Amino acid sequence: THFGFETVKESEKQQKVHKVFENVAKDYDLMNDAMSLGIHRIWKDQFMCKLGPVENTKLLDVAGGTGDIAFRFLKYVNEYKIKNCHVTITDINAHMLDVGKTRSRQLNFSPDSIAWQEGNAEELPFQDNTFNAYTIAFGIRNCTRIDKVLSEAYRVLQPGGRFLCLEFSQLEIAAAQWIYDQYSFQVIPVLGQLLAGQWKPYQYLVESIRQFPKQETFKTMIEEAGFRQVSYENLTLGVVAIHSGFKL
Ligand code: SAM
Repeated sequence: THFGFETVKESEKQQKVHKVFENVAKDYDLMNDAMSLGIHRIWKDQFMCKLGPVENTKLLDVAGGTGDIAFRFLKYVNEYKIKNCHVTITDINAHMLDVGKTRSRQLNFSPDSIAWQEGNAEELPFQDNTFNAYTIAFGIRNCTRIDKVLSEAYRVLQPGGRFLCLEFSQLEIAAAQWIYDQYSFQVIPVLGQLLAGQWKPYQYLVESIRQFPKQETFKTMIEEAGFRQVSYENLTLGVVAIHSGFKL
């Protein structure tokens, strides 16, 4: 049946994505720096400023990988002495979480303020209305069903809770998009091969970026999941975008 076919295709994508991140887990942080020329750090800092944690923030960071977003959150609340905050990191890949746990110990974060939970963004292992903030950074485009990810985000957020997504997007200027495409398709897989000894995962990375919906389309999808006051902001001419919405 058509339905049966879809199911096979979906689980294939999930397995493929799983394998990609299993293969890259240990080189993941180095590769991020190499491919974005370090700029991903600035995007993530801006993402955290946009969240602007306050007292009692209970954050769920989905597809949290090796902890980049969660650690920024903890640094922010420690630096500004914001009380009673907690982050839960969830990721489908235990290898990525393991790298994150080691980093977390090296960075001396209190284990009381951080929890790690293996889980699928499309079927979160948490009860309804559990968190008041939800982040997903460079994760949603790897998921098979974006609509499921969004409805799950809505479900686990409390009323008043905020959804924030940082993801690669489309450039505002066509000529810039062309140059960026040349870089992506010709340089990134080569860097993957040279630095990490792997071509395929990095080719996949570039393809998944091109296939992800444009800013406006993605905004509509977030609204369709029930979120209100949905907006987005482009960073670096739209190389990435931050989408925001509230469960009201
Ligand atoms: N958020 C981190 C960051 O910004 O550095 C990690 C981003 S990494 C590019 C994407 C992550 O998404 C990987 O760790 C991968 O295992 C995870 N992932 C892929 N599909 C997922 C799913 N369906 N549910 C949860 N995590 C998923």
